[in-house]
Amino acid sequence: NLYHLFESRFPADPQSRFLTVEDGPRAGVWYSYADVASISARFAHAMAGLGVGRGDRVAVQVEKSPENLFLYLATLRLGAVYLPLNTAYQKGEIRYFLEDAAPALFVCRPEDRVALADLASQCGVPQVVTLGVAADGTLPDMAIDLPDDFDTVMMAEDDLAAILYTSGTTGRSKGAMTSHGNLASNALTLHALWGFVPGDVLLHALPIFHVHGLFVATNTTLLNGGSMLFLSKFDADRVVELLPRASVLMGVPTFYTRLLTHAGFTHDLAAHMRLFISGSAPLLADTHREFSERTGHAILERYGMTEAGMITSNPLDGERVPGTVGFPLPGVDLRITDDTGAPVATDGIGQIEIRGPNLFKGYWRKPEKTAEDMRADGFFITGDVGRVDARGYVHIVGRAKDLVICGGFNVYPKEVETVLDAIDGVVESAVIGLPHPDFGEAVAAVIQRKPGRDDVTEAAIIGHVKGELANFKVPKRIWFVDELPRNQMGKVQKAALREQHKAAFA
Ligand code: ATP
Ligand code: MG
Repeated sequence: NLYHLFESRFPADPQSRFLTVEDGPRAGVWYSYADVASISARFAHAMAGLGVGRGDRVAVQVEKSPENLFLYLATLRLGAVYLPLNTAYQKGEIRYFLEDAAPALFVCRPEDRVALADLASQCGVPQVVTLGVAADGTLPDMAIDLPDDFDTVMMAEDDLAAILYTSGTTGRSKGAMTSHGNLASNALTLHALWGFVPGDVLLHALPIFHVHGLFVATNTTLLNGGSMLFLSKFDADRVVELLPRASVLMGVPTFYTRLLTHAGFTHDLAAHMRLFISGSAPLLADTHREFSERTGHAILERYGMTEAGMITSNPLDGERVPGTVGFPLPGVDLRITDDTGAPVATDGIGQIEIRGPNLFKGYWRKPEKTAEDMRADGFFITGDVGRVDARGYVHIVGRAKDLVICGGFNVYPKEVETVLDAIDGVVESAVIGLPHPDFGEAVAAVIQRKPGRDDVTEAAIIGHVKGELANFKVPKRIWFVDELPRNQMGKVQKAALREQHKAAFA
């Protein structure tokens, strides 16, 4: 059981601090490692009393809170399967997830109980409890008088610990079945690779319904017996205030772009920091450079996905190359293949395939989808396109589904975006393919300009790209926006852009 691994690393002094709440009405409240053990034990007893047992799914849609993390740990201790849901999901989406996951228990926000309890029963979910941000709700109420020790259930490496749904960037979200062994191997690898040391303090401002905030951030902290400063969400002012007390920040690229626009984010403020980590979406090479100039720190970019946790990372010691995601993690095999599945030569672009102890057990109730994405030799086809350079650094080129095929020629959006992003006055671009009567698909771009740079016109941009790239790669249309549409993890929503502009060439 992954919890046994965490427990074996708890600090000798049970009063050591695990987490401090840093915003909202409970700011200043903190929890020790003794609390981690006792609250997770009481929650485990409460859930056992509701009939939740080994292998049962516990679906959770509650706000970020320390108790939500204890619920995750309690679920592990019970041998049940933690299944967090994005807090933004609405009723129709919740119906899909409850029907798909068939949980034994649904934990929702107290304010949603009325609206969701009926829905849950329609979906055949036997038990519903609530958990609020102030440690309130029926779950903590039930747990209050229960014993504060619990006999953590023994689990095998391949037994499921969690099902996280993918972000739904390329289609309907799929449940990724993740085992105790998957999580343990990834956490141990990252803990060592990123050089966690006693006394490290993680500034935690990510949501905890994704791999990044839940597994990467929390599991490494637990393995370190370390502590975290807990923000309910990213807020640049609060991060600037808290940075002096932190040593590690894990963020999505938007954290870094927002910090760079904050006047209080200075070289001195960041001087004592040990590590800034970025992932979940591509970090612009420009942001990386600007950050280094401002702070003297090279952001460590890494790459991962729901199906495999972390896959590659730039090195702790050694060059962190802007625009790359570094090397495959120890124990992880990565290869680049062409459409037939044959390996591509160094520096050649192709699909990214991976294999390793971090790789998930398949998509929940989607054996055909799992089979489709798995090679006979155990490699998983990630759906991302990339290349490995001569020094072994992995470059992500984009997603297979975002590839544009214009008049029979492949266009990798990233190549065009790199040219667009380098134009003076352009902040960031998103290149998409749109249906076109002659070419099948045509290249188009949505661009965010720097404030006041209306002089960077569609014609000027197209003229510039024509001098840099073959004609079939040049955007035929350009739209300007104040901001690119992103989800909470900072991923640009290209499917939404394609939908919005689908009739442009019709
Ligand atoms: P879905 O699979 O439902 O379409 P999704 O792939 O966005 O959604 P996640 O598992 O949350 O769901 O995200 C994983 C993806 O995020 C990766 O496949 C990759 O495309 C992208 N990603 C993660 N880290 C990076 C990075 N450092 N640079 C570029 N892309 C990244
Ligand atoms: Mg995906």
